[in-house]
Amino acid sequence: MDVRVSGVRKEFDRFPALHDVSLDINSGELIALLGPSGSGKTTLLRLIAGLETPTEGKVFFGDEDASLKSVQERNVGFVFQHYALFRHMTVIDNVGFGLKVRPNSSRPSKDEIRRRSAELLDFVQLSGLEKRYPAQLSGGQRQRVALARAMAIEPRVLLLDEPFGALDAKVRKELRRWLREIHDKTKHTTVFVTHDQDEALELADRVVVMSQGRIEQIGSPDEVYDRPNSPFVYSFIGESSALDVNVDKSELWLGDQALGMRSDLPDGEAQLYFRPHDVELVDDSGARIAGKIIASRRVGATRRVELEINGAKGRVEIEIPADHPARETSLIAFRPKHWRVFPKN
Ligand code: ATP
Repeated sequence: MDVRVSGVRKEFDRFPALHDVSLDINSGELIALLGPSGSGKTTLLRLIAGLETPTEGKVFFGDEDASLKSVQERNVGFVFQHYALFRHMTVIDNVGFGLKVRPNSSRPSKDEIRRRSAELLDFVQLSGLEKRYPAQLSGGQRQRVALARAMAIEPRVLLLDEPFGALDAKVRKELRRWLREIHDKTKHTTVFVTHDQDEALELADRVVVMSQGRIEQIGSPDEVYDRPNSPFVYSFIGESSALDVNVDKSELWLGDQALGMRSDLPDGEAQLYFRPHDVELVDDSGARIAGKIIASRRVGATRRVELEINGAKGRVEIEIPADHPARETSLIAFRPKHWRVFPKN
């Protein structure tokens, strides 16, 4: 275990930005902090960096209490959304900056700094651009320089705060792949903040899903996508539809339609969650969810239909084959292939 966040609470003027957050980060892991705006991702990252101090709780680096260490002593590499490169320094000087400002005792020689910086630029595929200034680079190139600069100090942990957030979708996608490759080679322990679920699922070894200053779930991309442990995670990661149901002796009821699906919840009001693309259409009159199509649109190779469900309030969306003969007013019946039930409230 490399970094441990233990029972951390953070208040800003009595406003709790984080409540009792605990997280163990393993050596070499790439962790994504994922959540909507204001969920506390940046605050958690800044606490690990030492840029904020916890109101309660502690951060450990290995077995050591990090609260006794300054930001410099923690030796973390930081990359922000808005490239904080020094405008008046060339690319290669930017990369070497962290080494140059080290105290005498641990500062490498000028030649050594230059050699290492050039090596890193090669590593991030920017060889040839050493003498340029940040203004002469594209946004994606600047973020690569920022990453090379963060890696130059051989950080104990790399902290990336929406590093690709300001870039257009195509560059962002490329850099995502590139970062994963870089990580697979260097195995730096990395914590990455994003509000983009695709980015988190594609990049991370483990995803930490946050909401309102709390960790909702920690798991591999497959775990948080396939086995969300709360309605929040279900609807935040991937698309979801939800229906009000009743649990009666483990049997689910949608109005007076028995769904035949079992739940391990106590009797009472609940919500059935499923993914719109993960349903099968059924013809028989058995356990099924039936509804009237009220809207339909073509999405790529499939068709999305919005349904008003018999015996239930609200609407759900499901995905059906594009050539399905469903018309605007027709009825359709389906069964989710995978689903989860959560008690109401
Ligand atoms: P975003 O995706 O918008 O960056 P986030 O998940 O990173 O959001 P934080 O920036 O950690 O969220 O903020 C969490 C909460 O703490 C927010 O409600 C924010 O307004 C509040 N907050 C953060 N920093 C401060 C501060 N220095 N002073 C007062 N409140 C703050």
